[in-house]
Order: sequence, then structure tokens, then C-alpha cells
Amino acid sequence: MKITRITVFQIDLPLEHPYWLSGGRLKFEVLDATLVKVETDAGITGWGEGTPWGHTYVPAHGPGIRAGVETMAPFVLGLDPRKVLDVERAMDLALPGHLYAKSPIDMACWDIAGQAAGLPIADMMGGASRTPRAIASSVGAKTVEETRAVIDRYRQRGYIAHSVKIGGDVARDIARVRDVEDMRRPGELVLYDVNRGWTRQQALRVMSATEDLHVMFEQPCETLDDIAAICPKHAAPVSVDESLVTLQDATRIARDGLAEVFGIKLNRVGGLTKAARMRDVALAHGIDMFVMATGGSVLADAEALHLAATIPDANCHAVWACQDMLTVDIASGRGPRNVDGHLHLPETPGLGVHPDEELLGDPVATYA
Ligand code: MG
Repeated sequence: MKITRITVFQIDLPLEHPYWLSGGRLKFEVLDATLVKVETDAGITGWGEGTPWGHTYVPAHGPGIRAGVETMAPFVLGLDPRKVLDVERAMDLALPGHLYAKSPIDMACWDIAGQAAGLPIADMMGGASRTPRAIASSVGAKTVEETRAVIDRYRQRGYIAHSVKIGGDVARDIARVRDVEDMRRPGELVLYDVNRGWTRQQALRVMSATEDLHVMFEQPCETLDDIAAICPKHAAPVSVDESLVTLQDATRIARDGLAEVFGIKLNRVGGLTKAARMRDVALAHGIDMFVMATGGSVLADAEALHLAATIPDANCHAVWACQDMLTVDIASGRGPRNVDGHLHLPETPGLGVHPDEELLGDPVATYA
């Protein structure tokens, strides 16, 4: 089987609510999504998506994905998409780094491999759990009343996992953690996501002031060096996501004991092929996982769900469904959707959902 054509689409995915990142980074209202359609001489077509969480969050750039695909396409055309390692090496040779530009092609290749084998991607990756995965909410509200209202709204839809955004002001963050812990119900999972918003000193002040609560903080500081520096000085469990980009990051975090949880963002780390290695490093070191696409439509959520299904139930905390934050749906209700706060693995071969191509507009590029 050979890849014969790669067609690229760009679509804006408007957010239902504008999003402000902590630390004074710019707000954004629209996600810039790149959809990649990969065709083969066997008549099987795969789809991939790359949707960074805005341009100001981390080094991942919507137009950069399209430029990266243009650079990599000549090296990928003619390869067998079922041989995902061959495709991965071709992309790494053609364009060192730029992992976020590679994930859509990797995703489309896994989609094709699954369809060719008659298996969902998660089973193609070695076998998958059918236990539905809890979806984590994203709670950005500021006041106690607003926070309670947002969490209650998610609870009514079945959510039991919540990612509460904090970071910036020490006194306010300490109060916010205590307020949310007061409203936490038995069985609910709450992760306090700092999004790199604290200096080392701010992190230690909040962590020591909330030590009695035994709560988990995600990405408390900017870099792994910062997280390593504070590590011996606090007892709080830590999840790392923004600083988990390469396999070397994963091995450093595991070896040095910098985090108890990996937040694996598939677009950021370069797709399923690279993320699967991080999963194995995590499992070998007693590290649990959250899995997310980074952003995007139901296609991106489906990709994340496939990886999450390959993680043993006990080690997979939750997934995230960005689709619920968007005002457009490119797959008209198909694919894995929120059912009582959980996503169920599609049993259809491959990714399990393709977009309605007519909703994507004209292609922005075709390589053949
Ligand atoms: Mg996070």
C-alpha cells in the first residue's frame, strides 16, 4: 500500500467562551485547525488533525502545521502508511523538531492502518480497554460562586473530573484551592492546573499552604528545571504537561521523579507513535496519565481516546473533550461524544470518525 495524495484543509473552530491563559498571555476565541486527508492506492483514506491551543500558549503554530506538511509531503508520499515507524522517520528526517506539525500525518496513517486491519486504532496499538474514559472539565471561572456554577453545570452532564485553572496570585490561589476542595464531592477528581503561572517561590508558598489537602498541581512552573528545583521542597503530587514534549522530557521526569502524572497532549508530542513511547516510560515508572489532543474537533478527541484506551484503567485518570468547547461540529454528531461524562471507544476500524468534507471548504493544498 502506498500514500498517493495528501490534501490539507484549514478551518477555524470558534470557542463557545473566549479563553484567557494565565500569566498575562493573550486571550483567544478561535482555534486554527488543520485537517489532513491521506489517500492510498488501496482506496483507503485516513484523516488527521492538528489543532494547537491558540498560538500564544506554547510553541505550536496553526500555519506552521501547514508549512510543515508542505515540507514533509514529498518524503511521505509513496510510503506505506501502515508502517508508521517508516513514516515517522521520514518526517523526522525531512523536518527535525516541529513535532506538532507531524501529528496529523501520524494520526492519518494510524487511521489507515486500523481500517486496513479491520481494527480500531487502540487495538492496532496492541489492545485496548473498553472501560469508558472520564472526561475532565476545564474550569477557568474566577469567583467562588462562578466556580461552583461551572462545576455544577459539568456535574449535570456527568463529569467527575475537573481541571481547575489557577496561577498568578498566591493568596487568591490558596483561597481558590480551599474553596474548590470544600465543594469537591466523594469520587471526584480535581486537578489544579497552574499552566506555568507560578515562579518557584510562588509555587512553594501555595503548595506549603495547602499541604494538608493533598491536592495535585499541574505544570506549577515554566520549565522542568523550575519543577526540579522545587521538587525536594514540597510534598504535593505534580502533573506535567506543557514541559512534556519529547521522549527525553519523559525519561528525565521519570528518572528524576519530577512528576507523579504525565499530561500527554498528542499534538504537542507529535502524535500517537511518539506518545505511545511516553506511555510506556510512564507505566515503567509508576506514573499515571491524562491524555488530551491539545485542542480540536471530535477527530482530535478520538485520537486521544484511542491512546487512553491503551493505558490500563488504573493508570488513566481522564481524557479531555475539546469538542464540547466549540460552536462548530465538523462530523455532525458522529464519533465519540460525551455520554454521562465519559467517552466510549469507537468500535469502527481506524480512528472511528471522519469529518464531513463539505464542511471544511476548499483544500488549501494538495500534494500528489
Ligand atoms: Mg494543563
